[in-house]
Amino acid sequence: MKHLLLLLLVLLSAGPCLAQPTKGANQTPDSHVGFVPRWRSLLTKGWRYHAGDDPTWARPDFDASTWDTLTLNRPVHAMPRATRAGVCWLRLRFRLADSLRQRNLALQFYRLGTADIYLNGRLLTDSAHRARTRGFCYEPDWLEVPANGPAEQVLAVRFVPWRLFPLLGTDRLPLLQARLLTQRQRQRVDTKCAVQETNYWVITTVFLLLTLLHYTFYLYNPTQRANRYFARYALGFCLATMGVNYGIIGFAILPSWQWSAAIAATGGALVTLSGFYLLRAMYSLFGLQPGRVYVGLVVIGCLVLPIKVLTMISPWAGLAALLSGILGLAEIVRITVRALRQRRRGARIIAAGFAGGLLIILLYTGLRLLGIYLSPSLDDWVSYAPILLPALAISLFLAREFALDAELLLVKLREVEHLSAQTIAQEQDKQALLAAQNDTLEHQVAERTDALQRSLTDLHATQAQLIQKEKMAGLGELTAGIAHEIQNPLNFVNNFSEVSTELVEELQQALAARDTAEATELASDVAQNLGKITEHGKRAAAIVRGMLEHSRTSTGERAPTDVNQLADEYLRLAYQGLRAKDKTFNAQLQTDFAPGLPLVEGVGADLGRVLLNLFSNAFYAVHQRQQANGQLGYVPTVSVRTKQVGDRVEIEVGDNGTGMPAEVQAKIFQPFFTTKPTGEGTGLGLSLSHDIIAQGHGGTLTVESQAGQGTTFTICLPS
Ligand code: ADP
Repeated sequence: MKHLLLLLLVLLSAGPCLAQPTKGANQTPDSHVGFVPRWRSLLTKGWRYHAGDDPTWARPDFDASTWDTLTLNRPVHAMPRATRAGVCWLRLRFRLADSLRQRNLALQFYRLGTADIYLNGRLLTDSAHRARTRGFCYEPDWLEVPANGPAEQVLAVRFVPWRLFPLLGTDRLPLLQARLLTQRQRQRVDTKCAVQETNYWVITTVFLLLTLLHYTFYLYNPTQRANRYFARYALGFCLATMGVNYGIIGFAILPSWQWSAAIAATGGALVTLSGFYLLRAMYSLFGLQPGRVYVGLVVIGCLVLPIKVLTMISPWAGLAALLSGILGLAEIVRITVRALRQRRRGARIIAAGFAGGLLIILLYTGLRLLGIYLSPSLDDWVSYAPILLPALAISLFLAREFALDAELLLVKLREVEHLSAQTIAQEQDKQALLAAQNDTLEHQVAERTDALQRSLTDLHATQAQLIQKEKMAGLGELTAGIAHEIQNPLNFVNNFSEVSTELVEELQQALAARDTAEATELASDVAQNLGKITEHGKRAAAIVRGMLEHSRTSTGERAPTDVNQLADEYLRLAYQGLRAKDKTFNAQLQTDFAPGLPLVEGVGADLGRVLLNLFSNAFYAVHQRQQANGQLGYVPTVSVRTKQVGDRVEIEVGDNGTGMPAEVQAKIFQPFFTTKPTGEGTGLGLSLSHDIIAQGHGGTLTVESQAGQGTTFTICLPS
């Protein structure tokens, strides 16, 4: 099967030969085969050629001396033009040496066409032979030339050439070679063919294995891209050789020369492509970037490829392919030499591969020149060596790289294992440390929480105490006020009781004197007095009740409350409370109660506490101002005003006391904020008041004040 390639090589690489068949005419044998070389005897010269078709031209006695002469074993373009009809006849008169004439010989034709071959007028090619050689076949059957034939023999060939490609050479007579061998030679040729066929498949398999091997390397280590390129190169080459094999097989399945030719063309393209990949692999191996040279080679390769395919049987195709091949090889040699100079790792292996290939070519050629022929199988292998050796060298280099990488990885893996073991140990230590720290922290947190809890409990207790103190302070003021307030009704009760006693005595006298009119008047006076006594008694009882309510803890139950009355009552209580402490203190009380004010849903005791607190602070402030500068004409005044605003009730408690600067105003509702000297204030009054109004009653408590001018607190409650 290698014949297909050989034939292509013959087609593509034969140099231009302009020899034309010379015209001549004589009946003498045109070729005398007296000497058979070791391998082949070519029936090259002495052929006669004539276009047209006539069965009588097969006869041995036909005189073809007027026909054109023809020399075989020439490139197609050097052959004469075929006729349009395409049928032509060729004749060869030859004489065999006596030694050969006694032996059975074998005849073989290489051609691109269908041939009916006659020997001495007898048709050698039967219909089966014709059927077998319909396609693009280079391995025609052997034709038997029996021993002891006539001394002068005639070969006549009726030839129908195939139309090949639409370009060069299609109009030429594509008869290429005819050879006559002894049976021993024929056996050798057959053996060689068989060896070649096997070797061909071996080469295909080797490249397939290289493809798989290097793709696998690439899969496991994608950073080494040379493996990918090399695998592509090997695949391209493998497919190209396989294409040649299957081209022949394909011919058997689909017997047409077009099929075989297409496969051969594809094979050519694949070889070019795999050449590019070989270059890429080399660049990648030596860590180079494909530069302008590579681009140039690709352009040349791409240009040459169609030329090669379209001019398959032209010498130029062969020349172009050879040129581009040599350029590619030169580039490979250049980068290999450069890598050698740079002492790149593995450069020697690759150089050795290429040098080995080159050496074998030289040796082989030298032996041929010396006339030394190797045995068929060795000869065949030697011819593959220039392809195989560099490929195997590159493969070896890449495999070595892979092994080194793997070794490196192993070392790194061990390092990583070592490091991770260290890290795990450190991590465990850290965890243990953290656990210990956590324990300590938890312990500390528990201790602190306990301490905080205790502080909180203490604080609550202190707060409760302070609130109690605040209440008691209020109570003190209240008690003083109440004592004074109760004094009045009591005086009234006492006075009226005394007056009533006198009136009753007078009544008794009037009754004794039977003065009815006087008695009636006196009785009415007594009744009036008793009314007054009851009124003031009730007033005293109310004051006592108020005091009790104030001192009692609020139940929080809301009830409709008369705000006017509450404000009036607590204004006075507060005033009297302060006066009880300082008899010299006097203040003007101003009230402005809105008539018909709606009752407010509220807790009377709580609201009372708020009002008492506001009034006490107001009296304290005016007292302070009075004491501070003792201005003449200063009248300490505390006022209370109620009014209805929408559905809300407002209570304004105003004074013309010391007033407050802004920074004090900002803090007065904070618990424990006080400007009063120790013992006089707790700082809880306004904070509690704010809570009672805002949270307890859903209202607001606001302040407006100017330092040195006075202050107004406004309570706003929903009615
Ligand atoms: P305490 O009266 O115990 O100080 P409060 O909460 O009732 O606590 O008052 C806080 C502070 O607000 C007082 O110390 C005082 O400085 C200021 N303050 C309250 N009312 C008035 C007012 N009418 N005039 C001036 N300052 C006031």
